[in-house]
Amino acid sequence: MKIENTTNTNDDLGENHVGTSSDTPMKADAFKLSDNEKIDIIQSDVRHIMETLGLDLTDDSLNGTPKRVAKMFVNEIFGGLNPDKKPSASVFDNKYKYGEMLVEKNITVYSTCEHHLLPIVGKAHIAYISNGTVVGLSKMNRIVDYFAKRPQVQERLTIQIVKELQKVLNTDDVACVIDAKHLCVNSRGIRDIESSTVTSEFGGQFKNKEIKREFLDYISLETKF
Ligand SMILES: [Zn+2]
Repeated sequence: MKIENTTNTNDDLGENHVGTSSDTPMKADAFKLSDNEKIDIIQSDVRHIMETLGLDLTDDSLNGTPKRVAKMFVNEIFGGLNPDKKPSASVFDNKYKYGEMLVEKNITVYSTCEHHLLPIVGKAHIAYISNGTVVGLSKMNRIVDYFAKRPQVQERLTIQIVKELQKVLNTDDVACVIDAKHLCVNSRGIRDIESSTVTSEFGGQFKNKEIKREFLDYISLETKF
């Protein structure tokens, strides 16, 4: 995937949802603080934002919000920043000698746009061709969820999922398509309710036109059960 380089200001960069690297930009001392220390600091930051907006935090309904948001940031929606939470890489021998592509589609994606901190909601579709090892199906869901639980741009999320599966499965033959709605586009700014963003990354054999076509055909099959 190509991420275009622009000469815009940082503000424009964010508004256009352009990412700068396939690695999440992290500070060298990102894990110097414990999760609990981070929650304490973020809690007072959220309190500060709310008070600055003029809200009365002595109100019963608002009182618990700073702590609730801080815990949600650290433990849940940004929990995937912590490499300790990466799903373990258990793989199995491909006993059945299944040599065709395996597709896992409609994996739910809940992520957060790093430019606005608003939700990205959509579906990921993943395929790989086994090189002798296979991975549990739920593992693919967990890998998607781990990388989704970061401030993200959709392009980077797509690439990070593919790179991780390439490493786990020891093959380049991995592909991912994500179709998602960005609430920063749907609910504010241009307020386009219907639009969604599709990103794709095709590794190894998936760069081959026919194999790519096969994967995309599987994705568009309607699942009936
Ligand atoms: Zn955004």
